[in-house]
Amino acid sequence: MTAQPSPTRVLVLNSGSSSVKYQLLDMSDGSRLATGLVERIGEDSSARLKHTPLGTGEGGGESREWNGPIADHETALKAVAEQLAKDGLGLDSPELAAIGHRVVHGGKSFTEPTVVDESVLAEIERLIPVAPLHNPANLTGIRTARALRPDLPQVAVFDTAFHTTMPESAARYAIDVRTADEHRVRRYGFHGTSHAYVSRATAKLLGKAPEDVNVIVLHLGNGASASAVRGGKCVDTSMGLTPLEGLVMGTRSGDMDPAVIFHLARVGGMSIDEIDTLLNKRSGLIGLCGDNDMREIRRRIDEGDEQAQLAFDIYIHRLKKYIGAYYAVLGRVDAVAFTAGVGENAAPVRAAAVAGLEELGLTVDDGLNAVRADEARLISPAGARVAVAVVPTDEELEIATQTYALVGQ
Ligand code: AMP
Repeated sequence: MTAQPSPTRVLVLNSGSSSVKYQLLDMSDGSRLATGLVERIGEDSSARLKHTPLGTGEGGGESREWNGPIADHETALKAVAEQLAKDGLGLDSPELAAIGHRVVHGGKSFTEPTVVDESVLAEIERLIPVAPLHNPANLTGIRTARALRPDLPQVAVFDTAFHTTMPESAARYAIDVRTADEHRVRRYGFHGTSHAYVSRATAKLLGKAPEDVNVIVLHLGNGASASAVRGGKCVDTSMGLTPLEGLVMGTRSGDMDPAVIFHLARVGGMSIDEIDTLLNKRSGLIGLCGDNDMREIRRRIDEGDEQAQLAFDIYIHRLKKYIGAYYAVLGRVDAVAFTAGVGENAAPVRAAAVAGLEELGLTVDDGLNAVRADEARLISPAGARVAVAVVPTDEELEIATQTYALVGQ
Protein backbone atom coordinates (compact mmCIF):
# COMPACT_ATOMS: atom_id res chain seq x y z
CA MET A 1 0.00 0.00 0.00
CA THR A 2 1.37 3.44 -0.94
CA ALA A 3 1.22 6.15 1.70
CA GLN A 4 -1.18 9.04 0.94
CA PRO A 5 0.68 12.36 0.50
CA SER A 6 -0.12 14.83 3.30
CA PRO A 7 -2.83 17.32 2.38
CA THR A 8 -1.40 20.77 1.69
CA ARG A 9 -4.39 22.89 0.70
CA VAL A 10 -6.05 25.45 2.94
CA LEU A 11 -9.35 27.17 2.22
CA VAL A 12 -9.48 30.64 3.76
CA LEU A 13 -12.95 31.98 4.55
CA ASN A 14 -13.77 35.56 5.51
CA SER A 15 -17.47 35.61 6.38
CA GLY A 16 -19.12 39.02 6.71
CA SER A 17 -22.74 39.76 7.57
CA SER A 18 -23.88 39.53 3.95
CA SER A 19 -20.76 38.30 2.16
CA VAL A 20 -18.21 35.50 2.05
CA LYS A 21 -14.74 36.01 0.58
CA TYR A 22 -12.61 32.96 -0.01
CA GLN A 23 -9.28 31.79 -1.33
CA LEU A 24 -7.90 28.30 -1.77
CA LEU A 25 -4.14 28.10 -1.33
CA ASP A 26 -1.62 25.32 -1.70
CA MET A 27 0.79 25.64 1.20
CA SER A 28 3.44 23.45 -0.40
CA ASP A 29 4.42 26.60 -2.32
CA GLY A 30 1.96 29.28 -1.15
CA SER A 31 0.28 29.38 -4.57
CA ARG A 32 -3.35 30.38 -5.02
CA LEU A 33 -5.66 27.86 -6.67
CA ALA A 34 -8.93 29.78 -6.60
CA THR A 35 -10.43 32.96 -5.24
CA GLY A 36 -13.93 34.33 -5.03
CA LEU A 37 -16.63 36.33 -3.39
CA VAL A 38 -20.32 35.91 -2.58
CA GLU A 39 -22.08 39.23 -2.03
CA ARG A 40 -25.52 40.35 -0.91
CA ILE A 41 -26.40 37.10 0.86
CA GLY A 42 -30.01 37.16 2.07
CA GLU A 43 -30.98 40.08 -0.15
CA ASP A 44 -33.79 38.69 -2.31
CA SER A 45 -32.57 37.81 -5.76
CA SER A 46 -29.61 40.17 -6.05
CA ALA A 47 -26.84 37.94 -4.64
CA ARG A 48 -23.73 37.48 -6.74
CA LEU A 49 -21.06 34.81 -6.71
CA LYS A 50 -17.81 35.52 -8.53
CA HIS A 51 -15.36 32.64 -8.70
CA THR A 52 -11.93 32.64 -10.30
CA PRO A 53 -9.90 29.46 -10.68
CA LEU A 54 -6.25 30.43 -10.76
CA GLY A 55 -4.58 27.20 -11.86
CA THR A 56 -2.71 26.99 -15.13
CA GLY A 57 -5.17 24.37 -16.48
CA GLU A 58 -8.21 24.92 -18.67
CA GLY A 59 -10.20 27.99 -17.61
CA GLY A 60 -7.42 29.18 -15.28
CA GLY A 61 -7.75 32.90 -14.56
CA GLU A 62 -11.21 33.20 -16.15
CA SER A 63 -13.88 34.33 -13.70
CA ARG A 64 -17.32 32.77 -13.58
CA GLU A 65 -20.24 34.80 -12.26
CA TRP A 66 -23.58 33.72 -10.96
CA ASN A 67 -26.47 35.98 -9.95
CA GLY A 68 -29.62 34.96 -8.11
CA PRO A 69 -31.06 34.39 -4.67
CA ILE A 70 -28.72 33.14 -1.94
CA ALA A 71 -30.77 32.97 1.24
CA ASP A 72 -28.07 32.38 3.85
CA HIS A 73 -24.44 31.51 4.53
CA GLU A 74 -25.10 27.79 4.26
CA THR A 75 -26.44 28.19 0.72
CA ALA A 76 -23.53 30.50 -0.08
CA LEU A 77 -20.91 28.04 1.11
CA LYS A 78 -22.58 25.18 -0.75
CA ALA A 79 -22.48 27.29 -3.91
CA VAL A 80 -18.78 28.02 -3.30
CA ALA A 81 -18.13 24.29 -2.78
CA GLU A 82 -19.90 23.56 -6.08
CA GLN A 83 -17.76 26.09 -7.94
CA LEU A 84 -14.57 24.67 -6.41
CA ALA A 85 -15.70 21.14 -7.33
CA LYS A 86 -16.08 22.18 -10.99
CA ASP A 87 -12.33 22.86 -10.99
CA GLY A 88 -11.53 19.59 -9.22
CA LEU A 89 -10.93 21.52 -5.98
CA GLY A 90 -14.05 20.48 -4.04
CA LEU A 91 -14.34 20.50 -0.26
CA ASP A 92 -14.31 16.68 -0.32
CA SER A 93 -10.79 16.67 -1.78
CA PRO A 94 -8.31 14.62 0.30
CA GLU A 95 -5.78 17.35 -0.47
CA LEU A 96 -7.67 19.85 1.71
CA ALA A 97 -5.83 20.10 5.05
CA ALA A 98 -8.02 22.63 6.85
CA ILE A 99 -10.30 25.63 6.59
CA GLY A 100 -8.92 28.85 8.08
CA HIS A 101 -11.50 31.39 9.24
CA ARG A 102 -10.95 35.07 9.80
CA VAL A 103 -12.53 35.93 13.16
CA VAL A 104 -12.59 39.62 14.01
CA HIS A 105 -12.71 39.58 17.81
CA GLY A 106 -10.85 37.12 19.99
CA GLY A 107 -10.85 39.34 23.07
CA LYS A 108 -8.15 38.59 25.62
CA SER A 109 -8.77 34.86 25.38
CA PHE A 110 -7.33 34.09 21.99
CA THR A 111 -3.70 35.04 21.60
CA GLU A 112 -3.03 32.58 18.78
CA PRO A 113 -4.80 30.81 15.94
CA THR A 114 -6.95 28.08 17.44
CA VAL A 115 -8.48 24.83 16.20
CA VAL A 116 -12.23 25.21 16.59
CA ASP A 117 -14.20 23.04 18.99
CA GLU A 118 -17.41 23.63 20.93
CA SER A 119 -15.66 25.61 23.67
CA VAL A 120 -13.96 27.87 21.10
CA LEU A 121 -17.32 28.54 19.44
CA ALA A 122 -18.84 29.34 22.83
CA GLU A 123 -16.06 31.84 23.60
CA ILE A 124 -16.38 33.57 20.20
CA GLU A 125 -20.10 33.81 20.94
CA ARG A 126 -19.42 35.26 24.39
CA LEU A 127 -17.45 38.04 22.68
CA ILE A 128 -20.40 39.14 20.50
CA PRO A 129 -21.19 42.14 22.76
CA VAL A 130 -17.78 43.64 21.90
CA ALA A 131 -18.04 42.76 18.19
CA PRO A 132 -21.77 42.78 17.42
CA LEU A 133 -21.34 43.28 13.67
CA HIS A 134 -18.54 40.83 12.97
CA ASN A 135 -18.42 37.86 15.33
CA PRO A 136 -21.96 36.57 14.55
CA ALA A 137 -21.13 36.42 10.82
CA ASN A 138 -17.75 34.77 11.51
CA LEU A 139 -19.49 32.18 13.71
CA THR A 140 -22.05 31.41 11.03
CA GLY A 141 -19.22 30.84 8.56
CA ILE A 142 -17.44 28.42 10.89
CA ARG A 143 -20.60 26.50 11.81
CA THR A 144 -21.60 26.15 8.17
CA ALA A 145 -18.14 24.96 7.10
CA ARG A 146 -18.07 22.48 10.00
CA ALA A 147 -21.43 21.05 8.94
CA LEU A 148 -20.13 20.57 5.39
CA ARG A 149 -16.87 18.89 6.46
CA PRO A 150 -17.19 17.77 10.11
CA ASP A 151 -13.98 15.74 9.93
CA LEU A 152 -11.80 18.63 8.74
CA PRO A 153 -9.89 20.90 11.15
CA GLN A 154 -11.38 24.40 11.21
CA VAL A 155 -9.00 27.04 12.48
CA ALA A 156 -10.01 30.46 13.80
CA VAL A 157 -7.45 33.20 13.08
CA PHE A 158 -8.23 36.31 15.13
CA ASP A 159 -7.81 39.93 14.00
CA THR A 160 -7.04 40.86 17.59
CA ALA A 161 -4.47 38.13 18.36
CA PHE A 162 -1.35 39.98 17.18
CA HIS A 163 -2.18 42.84 19.53
CA THR A 164 -2.50 40.73 22.69
CA THR A 165 1.20 41.39 23.36
CA MET A 166 0.43 45.06 24.07
CA PRO A 167 1.44 46.00 27.61
CA GLU A 168 -1.34 46.98 30.01
CA SER A 169 -0.12 50.58 29.81
CA ALA A 170 -1.17 50.64 26.15
CA ALA A 171 -4.14 48.27 26.33
CA ARG A 172 -6.05 49.91 29.19
CA TYR A 173 -8.17 53.03 29.00
CA ALA A 174 -7.77 55.37 31.93
CA ILE A 175 -11.22 54.70 33.33
CA ASP A 176 -12.43 53.04 36.52
CA VAL A 177 -10.77 49.63 36.53
CA ARG A 178 -13.71 47.69 37.95
CA THR A 179 -16.17 49.09 35.44
CA ALA A 180 -13.71 48.42 32.61
CA ASP A 181 -13.14 44.83 33.70
CA GLU A 182 -16.80 44.10 34.28
CA HIS A 183 -17.64 45.07 30.70
CA ARG A 184 -14.34 43.96 29.13
CA VAL A 185 -13.59 47.54 28.07
CA ARG A 186 -9.98 47.73 26.90
CA ARG A 187 -8.04 48.29 23.72
CA TYR A 188 -7.95 45.14 21.58
CA GLY A 189 -6.85 46.45 18.18
CA PHE A 190 -7.79 45.00 14.79
CA HIS A 191 -6.21 44.26 11.37
CA GLY A 192 -3.80 42.12 13.40
CA THR A 193 -3.29 39.57 10.63
CA SER A 194 -2.18 42.36 8.33
CA HIS A 195 0.07 44.02 10.93
CA ALA A 196 1.69 40.64 11.66
CA TYR A 197 2.28 39.86 7.99
CA VAL A 198 3.51 43.33 7.04
CA SER A 199 5.86 43.74 10.02
CA ARG A 200 7.48 40.38 9.20
CA ALA A 201 7.64 41.15 5.47
CA THR A 202 9.26 44.50 6.28
CA ALA A 203 11.97 42.79 8.33
CA LYS A 204 12.54 40.45 5.40
CA LEU A 205 12.81 43.40 3.02
CA LEU A 206 15.51 44.84 5.29
CA GLY A 207 17.28 41.46 5.30
CA LYS A 208 16.80 41.12 9.06
CA ALA A 209 15.02 38.84 11.50
CA PRO A 210 11.71 40.21 12.87
CA GLU A 211 13.22 40.07 16.40
CA ASP A 212 15.84 42.60 15.34
CA VAL A 213 13.65 45.36 13.93
CA ASN A 214 11.21 47.96 15.20
CA VAL A 215 8.52 48.84 12.69
CA ILE A 216 5.64 51.28 12.49
CA VAL A 217 3.00 49.65 10.28
CA LEU A 218 0.42 51.92 8.66
CA HIS A 219 -2.50 49.84 7.36
CA LEU A 220 -4.39 52.42 5.31
CA GLY A 221 -7.43 50.91 3.61
CA ASN A 222 -11.05 51.96 3.90
CA GLY A 223 -10.55 50.98 7.53
CA ALA A 224 -7.17 52.20 8.78
CA SER A 225 -4.90 51.45 11.72
CA ALA A 226 -1.32 51.99 12.81
CA SER A 227 0.76 49.74 14.99
CA ALA A 228 4.09 49.93 16.79
CA VAL A 229 5.92 46.61 16.51
CA ARG A 230 9.03 46.02 18.60
CA GLY A 231 11.10 42.98 17.68
CA GLY A 232 8.14 41.26 16.02
CA LYS A 233 5.69 41.95 18.87
CA CYS A 234 2.96 44.58 18.88
CA VAL A 235 3.39 47.13 21.66
CA ASP A 236 0.66 49.58 20.60
CA THR A 237 -2.02 49.94 17.98
CA SER A 238 -4.47 52.67 17.09
CA MET A 239 -7.80 50.80 17.06
CA GLY A 240 -9.31 50.08 20.45
CA LEU A 241 -12.34 48.35 21.93
CA THR A 242 -13.77 48.59 18.42
CA PRO A 243 -12.30 49.65 15.06
CA LEU A 244 -13.59 53.20 15.59
CA GLU A 245 -10.56 54.56 17.45
CA GLY A 246 -7.41 56.00 15.91
CA LEU A 247 -6.76 57.21 12.39
CA VAL A 248 -9.16 59.07 10.13
CA MET A 249 -10.69 56.35 7.93
CA GLY A 250 -12.90 56.10 4.87
CA THR A 251 -16.13 56.41 6.87
CA ARG A 252 -15.00 56.35 10.55
CA SER A 253 -14.00 59.39 12.60
CA GLY A 254 -11.12 57.80 14.50
CA ASP A 255 -10.02 59.67 17.66
CA MET A 256 -12.12 62.45 19.11
CA ASP A 257 -13.21 63.74 22.49
CA PRO A 258 -15.66 61.10 23.83
CA ALA A 259 -17.77 64.00 25.11
CA VAL A 260 -18.80 64.69 21.49
CA ILE A 261 -21.13 61.71 21.97
CA PHE A 262 -22.75 63.18 25.11
CA HIS A 263 -23.09 66.50 23.33
CA LEU A 264 -24.76 65.00 20.27
CA ALA A 265 -27.14 63.04 22.51
CA ARG A 266 -27.97 65.82 24.98
CA VAL A 267 -27.85 68.88 22.76
CA GLY A 268 -28.30 67.32 19.33
CA GLY A 269 -31.10 64.96 20.46
CA MET A 270 -29.52 62.04 18.61
CA SER A 271 -30.00 58.45 19.75
CA ILE A 272 -27.04 56.20 20.55
CA ASP A 273 -27.72 54.20 17.37
CA GLU A 274 -27.78 57.37 15.27
CA ILE A 275 -24.47 58.49 16.76
CA ASP A 276 -23.00 55.02 16.19
CA THR A 277 -23.98 55.22 12.52
CA LEU A 278 -22.70 58.80 12.25
CA LEU A 279 -19.26 57.96 13.64
CA ASN A 280 -18.82 54.60 11.89
CA LYS A 281 -20.52 55.20 8.54
CA ARG A 282 -20.84 58.93 7.89
CA SER A 283 -17.60 60.32 9.28
CA GLY A 284 -13.93 60.15 8.30
CA LEU A 285 -13.21 61.12 4.70
CA ILE A 286 -16.79 60.61 3.52
CA GLY A 287 -18.12 62.82 6.30
CA LEU A 288 -15.53 65.50 5.63
CA CYS A 289 -15.85 65.75 1.86
CA GLY A 290 -18.47 63.30 0.57
CA ASP A 291 -15.95 60.84 -0.88
CA ASN A 292 -14.08 58.00 0.81
CA ASP A 293 -12.07 56.85 -2.19
CA MET A 294 -8.60 58.42 -2.08
CA ARG A 295 -8.41 58.38 -5.91
CA GLU A 296 -11.48 60.58 -6.14
CA ILE A 297 -10.24 62.87 -3.35
CA ARG A 298 -6.88 63.35 -5.13
CA ARG A 299 -8.71 64.05 -8.41
CA ARG A 300 -10.81 66.72 -6.72
CA ILE A 301 -7.73 68.25 -5.08
CA ASP A 302 -6.06 68.47 -8.49
CA GLU A 303 -9.10 70.46 -9.64
CA GLY A 304 -8.69 72.86 -6.73
CA ASP A 305 -11.50 71.49 -4.52
CA GLU A 306 -10.97 72.99 -1.05
CA GLN A 307 -13.24 70.59 0.81
CA ALA A 308 -11.32 67.60 -0.55
CA GLN A 309 -8.04 69.34 0.34
CA LEU A 310 -9.18 69.88 3.93
CA ALA A 311 -10.28 66.24 4.27
CA PHE A 312 -6.86 65.16 2.98
CA ASP A 313 -5.07 67.52 5.37
CA ILE A 314 -7.03 66.22 8.39
CA TYR A 315 -6.27 62.63 7.32
CA ILE A 316 -2.55 63.38 7.03
CA HIS A 317 -2.39 65.38 10.26
CA ARG A 318 -3.75 62.42 12.23
CA LEU A 319 -1.45 59.98 10.46
CA LYS A 320 1.56 62.14 11.26
CA LYS A 321 0.54 62.32 14.92
CA TYR A 322 0.51 58.53 15.10
CA ILE A 323 3.89 58.22 13.38
CA GLY A 324 5.31 60.63 15.95
CA ALA A 325 3.59 58.90 18.86
CA TYR A 326 4.78 55.44 17.84
CA TYR A 327 8.27 56.75 17.22
CA ALA A 328 8.26 57.85 20.85
CA VAL A 329 6.76 54.54 22.02
CA LEU A 330 9.41 52.52 20.20
CA GLY A 331 12.38 54.81 20.91
CA ARG A 332 14.22 53.45 17.90
CA VAL A 333 12.47 52.95 14.57
CA ASP A 334 14.02 50.90 11.76
CA ALA A 335 11.17 51.15 9.28
CA VAL A 336 7.81 52.68 8.54
CA ALA A 337 5.71 50.43 6.29
CA PHE A 338 2.69 51.56 4.27
CA THR A 339 0.11 48.94 3.32
CA ALA A 340 -3.52 48.30 2.17
CA GLY A 341 -5.47 50.12 -0.57
CA VAL A 342 -4.36 53.68 0.23
CA GLY A 343 -0.94 52.82 1.67
CA GLU A 344 0.03 50.66 -1.31
CA ASN A 345 -1.33 52.93 -4.03
CA ALA A 346 -1.48 56.55 -2.95
CA ALA A 347 2.00 58.05 -3.35
CA PRO A 348 0.79 61.56 -2.31
CA VAL A 349 -0.42 60.16 1.03
CA ARG A 350 2.96 58.52 1.70
CA ALA A 351 4.87 61.67 0.75
CA ALA A 352 2.66 63.94 2.85
CA ALA A 353 2.71 61.61 5.88
CA VAL A 354 6.49 61.83 6.27
CA ALA A 355 6.99 65.39 4.95
CA GLY A 356 8.82 67.47 7.53
CA LEU A 357 9.99 64.48 9.55
CA GLU A 358 13.59 64.59 8.25
CA GLU A 359 14.82 65.26 11.79
CA LEU A 360 13.44 61.84 12.73
CA GLY A 361 15.36 60.28 9.85
CA LEU A 362 12.23 59.90 7.74
CA THR A 363 12.22 60.88 4.06
CA VAL A 364 10.94 59.46 0.81
CA ASP A 365 12.64 59.56 -2.56
CA ASP A 366 10.09 61.09 -4.95
CA GLY A 367 11.19 58.87 -7.84
CA LEU A 368 10.96 55.65 -5.83
CA ASN A 369 7.67 56.74 -4.26
CA ALA A 370 6.12 57.26 -7.69
CA VAL A 371 6.94 53.72 -8.90
CA ARG A 372 3.93 51.40 -9.06
CA ALA A 373 4.69 47.77 -8.28
CA ASP A 374 3.14 44.73 -6.63
CA GLU A 375 6.25 43.81 -4.61
CA ALA A 376 7.44 45.05 -1.25
CA ARG A 377 9.88 47.90 -1.87
CA LEU A 378 11.78 50.72 -0.23
CA ILE A 379 10.81 54.29 -1.09
CA SER A 380 13.35 56.02 1.17
CA PRO A 381 16.67 57.14 -0.34
CA ALA A 382 19.67 54.81 -0.02
CA GLY A 383 21.35 55.20 3.37
CA ALA A 384 18.29 56.73 5.06
CA ARG A 385 18.32 56.33 8.86
CA VAL A 386 14.76 54.96 8.84
CA ALA A 387 13.59 52.80 5.94
CA VAL A 388 10.25 53.83 4.48
CA ALA A 389 8.63 50.92 2.67
CA VAL A 390 5.54 49.95 0.70
CA VAL A 391 4.64 46.41 1.68
CA PRO A 392 1.53 44.91 0.06
CA THR A 393 -0.47 43.08 2.68
CA ASP A 394 -1.75 39.53 2.17
CA GLU A 395 -4.19 38.61 4.91
CA GLU A 396 -5.35 35.43 3.16
CA LEU A 397 -1.81 34.09 2.86
CA GLU A 398 -1.18 34.95 6.51
CA ILE A 399 -4.40 33.18 7.62
CA ALA A 400 -3.49 30.15 5.49
CA THR A 401 0.08 30.14 6.82
CA GLN A 402 -1.07 30.31 10.45
CA THR A 403 -3.73 27.65 9.81
CA TYR A 404 -1.32 25.28 8.10
CA ALA A 405 1.32 25.79 10.78
CA LEU A 406 -1.24 24.52 13.28
CA VAL A 407 -2.61 21.51 11.38
CA GLY A 408 -0.19 20.67 8.56
CA GLN A 409 2.02 17.59 8.96
P1 AMP B 1 -8.79 48.41 1.22
O1 AMP B 1 -9.78 48.61 2.34
O2 AMP B 1 -7.43 48.03 1.69
O3 AMP B 1 -9.31 47.53 0.12
O4 AMP B 1 -8.60 49.87 0.55
C1 AMP B 1 -9.63 50.49 -0.17
C2 AMP B 1 -9.30 51.95 -0.40
O5 AMP B 1 -8.02 52.06 -1.05
C3 AMP B 1 -10.24 52.66 -1.34
O6 AMP B 1 -11.37 53.17 -0.64
C4 AMP B 1 -9.38 53.80 -1.88
O7 AMP B 1 -9.49 54.93 -1.02
C5 AMP B 1 -7.98 53.27 -1.79
N1 AMP B 1 -7.36 52.98 -3.09
C6 AMP B 1 -7.47 51.87 -3.82
N2 AMP B 1 -6.76 51.98 -4.97
C7 AMP B 1 -6.18 53.21 -4.95
C8 AMP B 1 -5.34 53.94 -5.83
N3 AMP B 1 -4.92 53.42 -6.99
N4 AMP B 1 -4.95 55.18 -5.46
C9 AMP B 1 -5.36 55.72 -4.30
N5 AMP B 1 -6.16 55.08 -3.43
C10 AMP B 1 -6.56 53.85 -3.74
